[in-house]
Amino acid sequence: MDRSFYMGLAAASLAGQELGLITCGRILADETLQLLPLLDAAYEVRKSFHGNKVRIHILNNAQNGHCPEDCHYCAQAKTSKADIEEYGLKPDQEMLAEARQAYAKGASCYCMVFAGREASQSRLDRLTRVIGQIKQEFPGKEVCVSTGFVTPNGAQQLKQAGLDRLNHNLNTSQENYPNICTTHTYADRLNTLLAARQAGIKLCSGMIVGMGENNAGIIDVARQLRALKAESIPVNLLVPIEGNALSADPNLTPEFSLRVLCLFRFLNPQAEIRVAAGRELHLRSMEVMALYPANSLFLQGYLNAKGADNAKTLRMIQDAGFEVHGDIEEIQVSPDQSPALKNLHELRPAYSAAKTGQ
Ligand code: SF4
Repeated sequence: MDRSFYMGLAAASLAGQELGLITCGRILADETLQLLPLLDAAYEVRKSFHGNKVRIHILNNAQNGHCPEDCHYCAQAKTSKADIEEYGLKPDQEMLAEARQAYAKGASCYCMVFAGREASQSRLDRLTRVIGQIKQEFPGKEVCVSTGFVTPNGAQQLKQAGLDRLNHNLNTSQENYPNICTTHTYADRLNTLLAARQAGIKLCSGMIVGMGENNAGIIDVARQLRALKAESIPVNLLVPIEGNALSADPNLTPEFSLRVLCLFRFLNPQAEIRVAAGRELHLRSMEVMALYPANSLFLQGYLNAKGADNAKTLRMIQDAGFEVHGDIEEIQVSPDQSPALKNLHELRPAYSAAKTGQ
């Protein structure tokens, strides 16, 4: 395929055109479309709206476990046998202290995540208090919460408290939803997003790739998020946790994962696209390539799974010529260490084995 095809994808995306289903399918699966030119075209789009900046998000499990839902990918689900640390809602002061730490580490958005089906009135009242305190102390920083289903009234209350973003992932396609959860539906999820949108809260919503969906399902979710004009789109790659119902998807190769990110970028040119959970596991040595379509990532791991070391992630960003959006006060990227020198056993293994009789 010649270069004009790839640049045509970028031009169409930048012009606000929605790529057709056939083209979307080709981006994911057509082997005649090469990965590097695809990434280059996606980067053209990313660069137009986000330059070379990388936004950093830090998640905080404001409460862990005790969830009555049965999302098959989640270690906090009632059906999961994963060995996680369960605890109830953290006190306000603990959440505030963790917000201060997150912003000091360069986070432009602090995300508080609550397990559970929905935001009860008492939780909404707690959130109103905590969000108000954070926004008073850090008026220029964003706050996001993930608190299950939210009604139109609940969304209004959160907006008035100063909430910037509501996270509520679509997770998977409508068709695949019954295979990943039986306690709620795709339509339930969509309704919460519509309530938040109506209240004027920015939407953070994405998917988890690798949960048995087909390529058409990935395209459906990317197009649905385009229709919703989601401002922030986390693209997670399933992290299989021992004890959860869902296991690893062998088709989730580094190349396929990168193609998915390119698709999301072409369909959602202005959105903040986050290479989210699973980047270390599934992208492996190609991890940095994700920053060509994506312009944001999580630091400090995910909900219950650890991620890469913070300094390693920041070095990766810098080495590839990207810049962290905002200031980093607390974590400094350490200078290169001198490499350790090889010993005789590594330099002359046969000689060394003969000498020691091993
Ligand atoms: S994803 Fe959310 S709603 Fe589903 S089981 Fe986990 S904590 Fe509960």
